[in-house]
Amino acid sequence: EEALRTKNPKALTFPCYTYTDTSPHSASLHVMDASPLKKLEQLEFSLDSVTDLSSSPSASPSSSPAVATFSCVDGVTELRFLQSDSTHCFTFDLASAQLFKLGTVQFICVSNDNSEEERSFSKGVNIKFGSEKDSKEFCDSFEEWRKGSSTVSASKSKFDDKIEASSAKMYFHYYGQLLHQQNMLQDYVRTGTYYAAVMENRSDFAGRVVVDVGAGSGILSMFAAQAGAKHVYAVEASEMAEYARKLIAGNPLFADRITVIKGKVEDIELPEKADILISEPMGTLLVNERMLESYVIARDRFMSPNGKMFPTVGRIHMAPFSDEFLFIEMANKALFWQQQNYYGVDLTPLFGSAHQGYFSQPVVDAFDPRLLVAPPTFHTIDFTQMKEEDFYEIDIPLKFTSSVCTRVHGLACWFDVLFDGSTVQRWLTTAPGAPTTHWYQIRCVLAQPIYVMAGQEITGRLHLVAHSAQSYTIDLTLSAKMWGPGASQGGILQSSTGKFDLKEPYYRMSQPQAYPAAQEPPLPPQPQLNPQQDIQIQSDDFEEELLQEPAQNASTTQL
Ligand code: SAH
Repeated sequence: EEALRTKNPKALTFPCYTYTDTSPHSASLHVMDASPLKKLEQLEFSLDSVTDLSSSPSASPSSSPAVATFSCVDGVTELRFLQSDSTHCFTFDLASAQLFKLGTVQFICVSNDNSEEERSFSKGVNIKFGSEKDSKEFCDSFEEWRKGSSTVSASKSKFDDKIEASSAKMYFHYYGQLLHQQNMLQDYVRTGTYYAAVMENRSDFAGRVVVDVGAGSGILSMFAAQAGAKHVYAVEASEMAEYARKLIAGNPLFADRITVIKGKVEDIELPEKADILISEPMGTLLVNERMLESYVIARDRFMSPNGKMFPTVGRIHMAPFSDEFLFIEMANKALFWQQQNYYGVDLTPLFGSAHQGYFSQPVVDAFDPRLLVAPPTFHTIDFTQMKEEDFYEIDIPLKFTSSVCTRVHGLACWFDVLFDGSTVQRWLTTAPGAPTTHWYQIRCVLAQPIYVMAGQEITGRLHLVAHSAQSYTIDLTLSAKMWGPGASQGGILQSSTGKFDLKEPYYRMSQPQAYPAAQEPPLPPQPQLNPQQDIQIQSDDFEEELLQEPAQNASTTQL
């Protein structure tokens, strides 16, 4: 079983094997950074004087008070000195600037920007601070910004700037292995829906230029080629690119219409613009892995203005749930640390931390939709409109009306994506009750449940903040107005909060999913979407399918 464990950044191996205990990410190297997107913006210092050292000897050097500003513009980190009478402004590229200390409050800043050019001259200024404190702070900032500038100029990649190298290494190593690509290919709901969406919308592909963003094995490129694409650029950053080449070469029907390009979509160049992008960039909770950012970067870099995106939009669906079994299971895990005599050692000092640790792991499994206690709501993410930066922080206000009187243990989430084809619109859903995918569903369990009555309003907030390990920190708050004295005067609020790391989920697949329905008839059988059959449907039937919402609505109306 140990051998079956994977470090799966996307989701658990599918179909599910038996896993026990902790997350497969337990050995991951990533370091959580509270401000992962710390951006070098602008920083100012006041100076007593700045004197130009490079002015011609005949002219008297102008010396006057000034403001020094560190800034980062278009990837270039600069230090600028502006004399307060605005007579002179001296700009240094921090990638090449040097600082020499002349005294406690005095420095020389020099740079030689164009060392290659024979006729260029170095520039320099003598700077003086009002206090030692200012002088030290400036010196520290100079070092920090100079370091920043070297990483900017060394990488010049949007991806490398925001993603920790160790995380990226593990990530692309994972996708470089055939077994993980096979795992995704064997998710027939996923692969079949992509196939159907492409084949039903041949007119969007026939004779068109296509970019496959994160091509993996190249499967979607070959779907696009089957639908008649003029040319497909299959961009893949991991070693899988080599396998994709081999696979495509072995399929002579498409081979001459697909070019595999090994590299990140953030870095590579393409010879022409694309009419349509195809990609499978979704992670758990839609946004995990932060690949949607690469998808919209690819859009801006490679797509022609009226191009299409497959998928076009995504939605995060959310509903409060009640699951006493799960809650007790999580609470019990930490009980180990309640022992006061573990081989003579008192473990209780770590009980609180262990408890908190377990409740910071989002739970990934397939659950029965009857655990939902309110009709779900959703948050739409339009891939054609989102800016890359819009993914850095996603704030979702929550409002539900409880259908039952129960204890709410947290928030259940899943997603779907739409292929907005010219002929057929098709949804790929990962909803509970719908055929299970390798994404399953995700639940954020609160350490403190809240009590609700039928008809009671549950409000709250789901706040996602991206971090440099290609995932998100999740803050969840759920609140319900209490009943009883005080309620009529504005109410007493019952509130519960939790913090979760989407990178460290608890894969809970081994547990039997037996939730006997209390006094309720069993669920009617869910429509099974067999992809093979599905694509045989004549176009008349599509009209009806088209208008149908994804299956999760059907399953939650029972509440
Ligand atoms: N399209 C394939 C694989 C999807 S998994 C399929 O549907 O089966 C996502 C793939 O995108 C992985 O192989 C990963 O290595 C690749 N990827 C992720 N980010 C990327 C980036 N910024 N540039 C290029 N490839 C990337």
